[in-house]
Amino acid sequence: MARRAVIIGAGITGSLVAWRLARAGWAVTVVEARHVGAGSSSRTAAGIRQQFSTPETVLGMRYAVDFYRRFREEVGGDSVPIVQNGYLFLYALQEDWDAAKYRVEMQQACGLDEVQALELGALVDRFPWVDRHALLGGTFCPTDGFLRPETVYNEAIAAARRLGATVVQNAPVTGVESTNGRIDAVITPKGRFGADLVIDCTNAWSPRLSRVLGATELPITPRKRYLWMCERAGSLSGDTLAAMPLVIAPSGAYCRPENDASLLMGWAHDAPAEPDFAYEDQDRVEEAFFHKSGPDSYGYATWMALAEVLPPIGEFAGITATTAGYYGVTPDHNPFLGFDPAVPNLMRLVGFSGHGAMFGPFTARVAEALADAGRDVASVDVLDGAAELEAFRIGRRYGHGEKLVI
Ligand SMILES: Cc1cc2nc3c(=O)[nH]c(=O)nc-3n(C[C@H](O)[C@H](O)[C@H](O)COP(=O)(O)OP(=O)(O)OC[C@H]3O[C@@H](n4cnc5c(N)ncnc54)[C@H](O)[C@@H]3O)c2cc1C
Repeated sequence: MARRAVIIGAGITGSLVAWRLARAGWAVTVVEARHVGAGSSSRTAAGIRQQFSTPETVLGMRYAVDFYRRFREEVGGDSVPIVQNGYLFLYALQEDWDAAKYRVEMQQACGLDEVQALELGALVDRFPWVDRHALLGGTFCPTDGFLRPETVYNEAIAAARRLGATVVQNAPVTGVESTNGRIDAVITPKGRFGADLVIDCTNAWSPRLSRVLGATELPITPRKRYLWMCERAGSLSGDTLAAMPLVIAPSGAYCRPENDASLLMGWAHDAPAEPDFAYEDQDRVEEAFFHKSGPDSYGYATWMALAEVLPPIGEFAGITATTAGYYGVTPDHNPFLGFDPAVPNLMRLVGFSGHGAMFGPFTARVAEALADAGRDVASVDVLDGAAELEAFRIGRRYGHGEKLVI
């Protein structure tokens, strides 16, 4: 009889893991508190980059980009979920620019051949819409870009179903039945689901779920993050906008095209921990962040921070929408990918700290290796290298954190 895996949560993580384990022969049940895509996965900027500061994440994200390019052949559906417009990090301070160039060497050593450090002249030649007086240079990787997240979770869930998976929506996990510390079944209002393996894919909800599961409470802090849409006007053509990479300004403000008429913008801010946020809170927009609050709002500050280095953006017509969601932030901005120390048949794939959409294929790759082994493993093979998993282990020391966080 096939081994039974119960996956809790149907965002990008749970959907891709469900497909991957169903393909590997597991009898998969997905239980989702609301509906497929109800969490951060439908509220994300969905940027995908291989420009990270640690080798294991560079390797993991090279694997993710390659997977998303082959998504139709691997998973199915009609459309490719990745738009490879590239990622452009801009630098204005010498110290930051020196560190960025050093990182590019590390990334190239990890097989990311196409990433480049562009000195000012080359940067302006390549991207004439940047302000040459405000910058020293930039790093650009043309195979980075952004995702269409709804394609990822909807197609992955459809593919998992075709492989025999059961997907139960409006089914929050409210309890478990356990023997000797192992979970035998998870309990929901829609029924009891027996399990040989349980996988927590609830990200920002995970600390709360851990109490229900009798699991280790991991240091994951739910924090609000906002996005804004800005309407194109002025000298930047629709074609130029649509072809723009995801750009990160020296301030940390970032933007990418949503289409040829609108620009999606974001900028991290000091946000309080919200451990008990409700589903509805995902869409709650504080007045200080709402675009209709006027020019003092954080959305306008984001727009202006971008216009400082991308002058044509300053000519745009205005902000038309504010959306929001939660990051599940860990102390070192790396996720937890591993078995729970307190519950031997519980795998945790949580704490993505703003990277969960891009991590999805790598997370699912790791999940399959761990499920197969029945315990944590030291590394997984990805493309031409082995990605070490120590940086993602539960119980790790937090000395090896991700430095490029947006
Ligand atoms: C504004 C914003 C911008 C972002 N930008 C990026 C980006 O550029 N690139 C990137 O890679 N990532 C980005 N992220 C992060 C990314 O969106 C998340 O890391 C990712 O979507 C997490 O996916 P997930 O499937 O792990 O979790 P989620 O999509 O949050 O899914 C978790 C699911 O668990 C369900 N659930 C919760 N409790 C229970 C329960 N008790 N029982 C059953 N189900 C339960 C929820 O309903 C939810 O559907 C951004 C996030 C935000 C908010």
